[in-house]
This record gives sequence, structure tokens and C-alpha cells, in this order.
Amino acid sequence: MTAHMLDGRAMGAEIKAELRGEVERFRQGQGRAPGLVVMRIGGDGASGVYSKSILRIADEIGIEARVEQLTTLTSNTTLRSALLQLNANPAAHGILVQMPLPVHLSQQLVAETIAPGKDIDGISIMNAGDLFLGAARFLPSTAAAVIEILERTQTPLAGKRAVVLGRSNVVGKPLAMMLLQKDATVTLCHSHTANLPAFTRQADVLISAVGQARLITAEMVKPGASVIDVGINVLPGGGIVGDVDTEAVSRVASALTPTPGGVGPLTNILLMKQCLQAAWQAIPKD
Ligand code: NAP
Repeated sequence: MTAHMLDGRAMGAEIKAELRGEVERFRQGQGRAPGLVVMRIGGDGASGVYSKSILRIADEIGIEARVEQLTTLTSNTTLRSALLQLNANPAAHGILVQMPLPVHLSQQLVAETIAPGKDIDGISIMNAGDLFLGAARFLPSTAAAVIEILERTQTPLAGKRAVVLGRSNVVGKPLAMMLLQKDATVTLCHSHTANLPAFTRQADVLISAVGQARLITAEMVKPGASVIDVGINVLPGGGIVGDVDTEAVSRVASALTPTPGGVGPLTNILLMKQCLQAAWQAIPKD
């Protein structure tokens, strides 16, 4: 078997084209574009690359985005008041706080302060709770990207066994909830899971969000499974790979995301989709 490679870049281009039209419709109706603010606290070169790529994608879609840069020395009190100001700013429809935060700052404070209606990466307490209760408004974008790939490729989920590796609040846990809502039978594995291959081999849909290069070997995959590789790992000699041994697994799986070019390209585009959604939802109802 040779797996069908699930091309995240092509899917991203499709969604971008859909969004461009919808953003233009918003702009014409409302007299202004949807607005996005990326809040960045301190940050190194890599996080600068990330915020630049957000601004570029926003620009391509027609969303007005800017970076609000705070210094590394920002206190929790200052961060909270900066977020409250953005919450009250009608031009900021979506707020994205760039992670990771400097260690002295509280992620919990961000989750408690960011307005749920502007929280386009689904990190607030309210949005996490809504997802848990099956009434999600804004989803964590990486988990949403995985579901988008599965839906666009019409991968059956109802009644299927989905195994997720990784239980972080931003990827594994929300993804498990989303798969459950699609009626999959979900197993969530983590670093303490004993005999990992016994679980992965049962998966009709196997999703790895761990961050360990080539953790998933061909022997760990059920023949014909769909495999989604969320992991991003920089090799010591340079180059980026996922968690999956792509070459070997592509001989066993029926479908597989490449790295790069799989989940990654969709993540930021889905942030834009949720920013547009936030902008529509912010329009006062008569
Ligand atoms: P994280 O917070 O470090 O979580 C990693 C998870 O993997 C943890 O739950 C950990 O278990 C689990 N784990 C570690 N070793 C394992 C093993 N041998 N077997 C099974 N589970 C194991 O990372 P994250 O933020 O969720 O990100 C995961 C990966 O996705 C990273 O490579 C990251 O770069 C990538 N990522 C990609 C995108 C994208 O757009 N494509 C976006 C976000 C993240 P414990 O909980 O027990 O420690």
C-alpha cells in the first residue's frame, strides 16, 4: 500500500480563497476589515518569524492585523491591563497571545482575562469549557486543523477508533474532545502509557502530537489507517520532521500528512477563519 499524502498546503490555499471572499463581504457590509491583534511578550527570533507569518497570512486574506509588543519585563498586572484594553477595543475582533510566555507570567491569567468572544485560539476558560460541553465557539487552532484535514478528506470518524498521542491543553486534549463529538471511540495516550504500540495498532485514525522525531514506526500502524502527524521536530543536523517515520509508514497507512506541509499550513489559516467569525459575532444585533 502507498498512502495518499494529505496536502495541507493545497487545503490551506482552498480555505484562504474561501476566506478572502468572506472577508471582503464583511468589509463591504461593515465599512472596515476584521481586526486581529497578536500580543507578543518579549520573544526570540523564532517567535518573531511566527508573528510575521501571522501578519502575512492576515494580509493575504484581507484581515487587518498588528503586533502589540510588550517587553520581557512585563508584569502580570500590566499584561492583564493590556488584555483588558484589547477586550474593550472594538477594532480588535480577535486577540492572539503568542506562546510560550516568559516564565514569570501566568498562562492561567491569560486564560481568565482574554474575552471569550475574541479568543480566536480557544485558550480561555470559557471556550475550553464550551468545547468540553459540546458547544464550542472558538477551537484551539492546531486541533481544529487536524479535524479540518479529516473532514476535507471525508475520513470516516463515527464508530471508528481514534488514538491521540499527546495530552497537552492546546493539541491532544481538545482534539480528543473534538473526535469524541464526531462519534469516534477515542483513546488518549501520553508519556506514561504502557505498551504504546498496542494502542496505536488499533487506530483507524492515528494522530501524533508528541514532538519526538520518528516515534511512530510502520510496525505501530494498522494497515489502512489514516495517520495525522502534528509533531514538529528540528533534527540536529537541520531539517524538520514530524513524529512519524513518513517513508516507512506510507507503505502501511492509507493516508498520511507530510511534515512539513501537513497540519502546519492549516493552523494559522484557521486562526484567520476564527477571527472572521469573531468579527461577525461582534456585530450588534438589533
Ligand atoms: P507538549 O505540550 O510538549 O505535549 C507533548 C505531549 O506528548 C505530552 O502530553 C506528553 O505526555 C506526550 N508524550 C511525550 N512523550 C511521549 C511518548 N513517548 N509517547 C506518548 N506520548 C508522549 O507539546 P504540544 O504543544 O502538544 O505539541 C506537540 C507537538 O506538536 C510538538 O512537536 C509541537 O511542535 C507540535 N505542534 C505543531 C503545531 C502545528 O501547527 N503543526 C502546532 C502546535 C504544536 P505527558 O503529558 O505525560 O508529558
